Amino acid sequence: MKTEISIEFFPPQTSEGVDKLRVVRGKLAVLKPEFFSVTYGAGGSTRERTFSVIREIAAEGFNAAPHLSCVGSTRDNIREILMEYKAAGICRIVALRGDLPSGMAEAGEFRYANELVEFIRKETGDHFRLDVAAYPEWHPQARFPRDDLAAFARKAKAGANSAITQYFYNADAYFHFVDEVRKLGVEIPIIPGIMPIANFSKLARFSDHCGTELPRWMRRKFEGLSDDTEAIRAFGLDVVTALCERLLAGGAPGLHFYSMNQSALTLEICRRLNVGQ
Ligand code: FAD
Repeated sequence: MKTEISIEFFPPQTSEGVDKLRVVRGKLAVLKPEFFSVTYGAGGSTRERTFSVIREIAAEGFNAAPHLSCVGSTRDNIREILMEYKAAGICRIVALRGDLPSGMAEAGEFRYANELVEFIRKETGDHFRLDVAAYPEWHPQARFPRDDLAAFARKAKAGANSAITQYFYNADAYFHFVDEVRKLGVEIPIIPGIMPIANFSKLARFSDHCGTELPRWMRRKFEGLSDDTEAIRAFGLDVVTALCERLLAGGAPGLHFYSMNQSALTLEICRRLNVGQ
């Protein structure tokens, strides 16, 4: 069976960034991705930029999936965005709660992502294919894993078609999460989110923030490589390729790459896996 690849970008802040992303997309196109997705700043901070990149991707003939987060938004805001996407021929959305930027106090009319999924279904029926977020190492705000599983099941029940996970480096966490979710009767595909490793110190900071564990053996090895960028790149490629191999061998239905608007590492991992080309 063909392994489905999808690739995520963030909306660049400058016109140089937009040009560069066009080139990156052109290179990643050889992987024949199922879709390219574009993140969305909570509270609508990237609304125009996200939409503009999504429009370009769709015009290039790819499936384009905007992320849409609901925190800090009203129903009217979200309805307007849904109508814009529908009118632009967009058929897939990654539906999220998002995190309110610090200093932004207004929580808006949605509390959790399941409410957004319900709202999208109510407003647009089955027009959009909906992906939601999943956390094999648990969402950092979840008090107990069982609460997070229940929250995930609510998103599926509200009408999500599939899920994409937070990135992780521990395949067992993914397999355990999938088993637990299946026990709750949730059958939607759960696609592992894959973060290629380019800069280890940046990754370590970001991982603390989003609750991803960097296994000690990996962390110590990267720290030992200091600022040897070639060695970091080589070890990162080996680690992430081995992770993907294990995930696919264990039944993962596809791979979603957090590209960070770069092409080289994703291309090399897919070449080694012999997927997507
Ligand atoms: P939810 O599913 O609502 O869960 C959030 C927390 O609330 C969890 O701890 C959950 O257990 C808990 N919870 C849910 N329902 C209830 C309830 N009824 N009662 C009590 N607790 C509850 N962020 C962005 O801002 N923009 C993006 O583009 C973006 N893209 C992402 C893509 C992916 C694939 C992933 C994995 C994450 C992405 N994020 C993005 C980050 C995401 O917005 C944050 O992780 C956010 O904190 C949670 O969003 P969620 O949709 O998972 O929320």
